[in-house]
Amino acid sequence: MKKASSLEDANYVVITTCMIKESAENRVYGMVNNLIPLKEKKLANGEEFTIVITGCMTGMAHRDKTGKMLKELKRRMPAADQFIPLEEIGFELAPLRQDKETAYIPISNGCNNFCTYCVVPYTRGREVSRAFDDIVHEAQHAFDGGYKKVLLLGQNVNSYGSDIVLAGKKQQELKPVYVKHLGKSRIPTLFPHLLEAVAQIGFTEVSFMSSNPWDFSEELIDMIAKHKNITRTFHLAVQSGDDAVLKRMNRWYTAQEYVDLYNNIKKKMPEAHVTIHFDKAYISIYSNRRGTHAYKYIPDDIPHVVKDKRWKMLDKLVNSQYYEKMRARKPSK
Ligand code: SF4
Repeated sequence: MKKASSLEDANYVVITTCMIKESAENRVYGMVNNLIPLKEKKLANGEEFTIVITGCMTGMAHRDKTGKMLKELKRRMPAADQFIPLEEIGFELAPLRQDKETAYIPISNGCNNFCTYCVVPYTRGREVSRAFDDIVHEAQHAFDGGYKKVLLLGQNVNSYGSDIVLAGKKQQELKPVYVKHLGKSRIPTLFPHLLEAVAQIGFTEVSFMSSNPWDFSEELIDMIAKHKNITRTFHLAVQSGDDAVLKRMNRWYTAQEYVDLYNNIKKKMPEAHVTIHFDKAYISIYSNRRGTHAYKYIPDDIPHVVKDKRWKMLDKLVNSQYYEKMRARKPSK
């Protein structure tokens, strides 16, 4: 196969779906249904036209043992021909890199945290870590190919490797780091080791995303502080500053623990930026995701117009300076 120059020239259309928000899911339905006239025209001309749906929507549907979700996807997207679960894609397909500067490398998929509002553990499944050596090998390959920066990706990179360690598989004699919480060992992780191995390759910048504050170990902070080429910009999701809300969200840290983590990072790396001081914040309007704990037990009782008003207020409050900076950067015509 080769990449088609336009949608009209394509014989296969592959749509990678997201369902983190309801609006993302609705866009997929709209997109597939908008393809119907093109599909009919192509088929009438004797051409092939196959619509393939993959990503989170199919991930969740294939995990639903009742088969109802897959049935619903088929009903709402009658023009789609194939629904491929995420697991069939895996980690091992050679990446098609479009960014010329940064190599994006997946290190894990799925999440075990089950925050009450989040659909990811249902769409992506439980956390699966990619083999340590495969990641380092891909990073080395990207570096040899001229990439200066690398971004390690996972739903919660900080817990990378816990499944590998718990399954008793040894990774080059690496001693797992135990993330501690309230004085207790929580989960073993290999992430500090992985970060070090990738940093030693020689990239000018090594960064990672996403990073749950709950799993940010002392050893991880020390490892980052040790290597100057590991990012000093941390995207650490706050979620709420209210302990009762954090508890309802099943986020097992308190507002004070978040602040302590921030202070600890700043103590060891005074130059660090953490998104708590809001140079820029990603703010989303809540949508009730089917299958989650919140969907079943916590009513979504805030009208959309109120949510929208609050979103605008927060965006203005937090991001207006950032937008101004961006506008000032744009070259005048
Ligand atoms: S840690 Fe992130 S991906 Fe995992 S359940 Fe919570 S919000 Fe979702």
